[in-house]
Amino acid sequence: VDELVQEDIDRFAASFEGITKQYRLINRIGEGTFSTVYKAEDLLYDHFENDWDIEEKENNRYLTPNRRKEKRQPRRRAHYVAIKKIYATSSPIRILNELELLHDLRKCPSVCPLITAFRDKDQVIAILPYFQHRDFRDYFREMSIHDMRLYFQSLITALSSVHRHSILHRDIKPTNFLYSPEHARGVLVDFGLAEREGTDWHTCLCAFSPNERMMKQRTSIYAANQQEAAAQGTKQQPSYPKNDSRPSRRANRAGTRGFRAPEVLLKCTMQTCAIDMWSVGVVLLTLLAKRFPFFHSADDIDALLELTNVFGRKRIREAAIMHGQVFETNIPSYSENGYGFEKIILWCTERTKKDANGKRIETLDPEEVEAIRFLERLLDCDPQKRITADEALQHPFILAADH
Ligand code: ADP
Ligand code: MG
Repeated sequence: VDELVQEDIDRFAASFEGITKQYRLINRIGEGTFSTVYKAEDLLYDHFENDWDIEEKENNRYLTPNRRKEKRQPRRRAHYVAIKKIYATSSPIRILNELELLHDLRKCPSVCPLITAFRDKDQVIAILPYFQHRDFRDYFREMSIHDMRLYFQSLITALSSVHRHSILHRDIKPTNFLYSPEHARGVLVDFGLAEREGTDWHTCLCAFSPNERMMKQRTSIYAANQQEAAAQGTKQQPSYPKNDSRPSRRANRAGTRGFRAPEVLLKCTMQTCAIDMWSVGVVLLTLLAKRFPFFHSADDIDALLELTNVFGRKRIREAAIMHGQVFETNIPSYSENGYGFEKIILWCTERTKKDANGKRIETLDPEEVEAIRFLERLLDCDPQKRITADEALQHPFILAADH
């Protein structure tokens, strides 16, 4: 352990009363905007003959030993733990939200369960079982299509149960899915931005039929135009207002840039669990294209332009209208219909050789094509048409993981 890290560990041990009585801090394993995570040994672990509580044991008395072992999976205690120190700068509501959601999800497969949590003055720590995993950057280039099937089966299994609880994770990305390629198992962590579906919802145009949407959109733009014309004492123009006086829209845009769904970027005010499936799609695109990060925009506008480059003006324009926005760009290089994923993946993996007639020599193999069919269902710009976690688990691409 490097000296500065050791200093930080010592400072943490000294600042949190009683922590060293139960835990031996080993290393610092994560440092982010909202938290620092330490690896530690639970010193009281041996005092419990094993890692589940009495009630559970009673309930499972009649199970066969093998079945009992299976049921032990969601551990209540663990010898090695991850201690997540949530910065005191986070609001108490935010911290409570994270712990509460983790508690609700404690029985979900592939979701890292919360063991317990402690508070000392303004400092809160969450205790999670330590999960052995590898850094995404170390293995993403080498993953075969079959490895990808296993990876997504595990990730989407987690999401399926999270979504059944009507909870959106909101920050699906490789660093929040701790995966061990050797065991083909992973756990979903970091519910710091998660929320219950429907929190703070305001009517968004996407809740209406296309016809109703068009009418409402027209009425709203007409009114804004009229207001602008009145303010400037000019005649109303039949176009989009230049100085729109309507209040700007506010919507939850938390998450990590590059993984945000179009409806998040377009400030949809009724975001659903579908935003997580988009992020899953970005991870699959990353793996197929072997480029990480695939998108790296500076801000939301930039991110929307990156999407336009891939998906074309038409689809982004349609997505904007769906959520009551207008999308216009004067960047000439963006095509109307974008590029297919086949082309993008061949480019990114440098399979661009052509014969004398300009015909592509290198092509994708059938497994990659199947992966792309799945990718298209994940990266659907329309959240209502996008594949859900449960549907994804039944998709041929994922079903083939078991063969
Ligand atoms: P943050 O909100 O700061 O991103 P996370 O919950 O994502 O916090 O944790 C940050 C990092 O700590 C993770 O990316 C991972 O490397 C490590 N980590 C978190 N939980 C565990 C765990 N249960 N086992 C092993 N490592 C973990
Ligand atoms: Mg994180």
